[in-house]
Amino acid sequence: MPTTTPALSLPSAGAPFEAIALERRDLRDDDILIDIAYAGICHSDIHTGRDEWGPAHYPLTPGHEIAGTVAAVGSAVTRHKVGDRVGVGCLVDSCGGCEPCKDGQEMFCTKPSVGTYNSQGYDGEWTAGGYARQVVVSERFALSIPDELGLDVAAPLLCAGITTYSPLKRWGAGPGKQVAVVGVGGLGHMGVKIAAAMGADVTSMSRSDAKAQEAAEMGASHHIATSDAAAMKAARRSFDLILNTVSADLPMDDYLRLLKPNGVLCNVGLPMQPYSVFPFGLIGGNKVLTGSQIGGIAETQEMLDFCARHGLAATIELVDASDPADVDAAWDRVTAGDVRYRCVIDTATIPEG
Ligand code: NAP
Ligand code: ZN
Repeated sequence: MPTTTPALSLPSAGAPFEAIALERRDLRDDDILIDIAYAGICHSDIHTGRDEWGPAHYPLTPGHEIAGTVAAVGSAVTRHKVGDRVGVGCLVDSCGGCEPCKDGQEMFCTKPSVGTYNSQGYDGEWTAGGYARQVVVSERFALSIPDELGLDVAAPLLCAGITTYSPLKRWGAGPGKQVAVVGVGGLGHMGVKIAAAMGADVTSMSRSDAKAQEAAEMGASHHIATSDAAAMKAARRSFDLILNTVSADLPMDDYLRLLKPNGVLCNVGLPMQPYSVFPFGLIGGNKVLTGSQIGGIAETQEMLDFCARHGLAATIELVDASDPADVDAAWDRVTAGDVRYRCVIDTATIPEG
């Protein structure tokens, strides 16, 4: 019998959330059923549910920062057992056989990969995400959450953690490196914590000084208010790596100027507007302007283990979903840059639909 589970759903773009009974598929041989405990609210949920990236598929249950415990397993499951603490991020399927999949970059699967929500599975069914009390997923896409990490503060690692860890590692954040993280939101605050744990000298960059003190407590040694023209000028040629997590357009040229020669400006924020770049600002100094999309499954596990080893997790605000309008309000607070630093839904409070 398919399971139904209480979930939050958007009937159309920009409409308020409503509680529904969401159907989850029968367990396949390699599936696990997860009792979700917490689901982080990523800005990507909002871009999707407000059609900012183009029309989404409705009704839409978002959520790709999922943490919970295994409630049941299919007959061929070997990696997880009932009671295990597990997480699910942005991916729930990939072909497993193409070059990117074999390279551990399932997000670039050529079939292509299947997203946790707003995505069509290989069976043709639309996926539905973690703003729900249960989810069914192939064991291959469930990560083990180390015992050191609480499920509430681990949930955001499944997207915000891996999306910052992967480019910080790839571009060499570490001892002797000056790393700036632009935007101290859900991704950005994890970027600050992870870059500091990797041993880099970290500068947090935010629109004002309002988050400076907390960013310092997360590991930033310096802070720049991007609205302060003099501070931006003083910071020119300072950084080996800048990680841009801002959800809106940013003037790339202003940030390229902050790089040392051969420095890297890596974008993970996903606004819809095209970035504009003055070629002299890129070529003068051999600068690298690049991007990064989440991370593969093995690297996501590596990131969780890294966070457990270094005592890192998200700084969260818990959201009670008894009244689904409070989740709409949380979305508004995310877009206002008001959250400290990731909203996480206590999924046990999602009402029966
Ligand atoms: P978030 O919590 O809203 O954080 C974004 C931060 O950007 C805000 O806290 C704010 O920082 C800054 N910001 C917002 N509006 C701004 C504006 N108009 N001008 C300048 N700065 C502004 O969002 P998030 O969940 O971290 O996600 C950030 C972006 O990454 C989103 O676009 C999301 O879709 C994208 N994303 C990408 C990937 C990927 O694979 N590449 C994965 C997940 C998310 P301050 O208050 O400090 O200024
Ligand atoms: Zn996300």
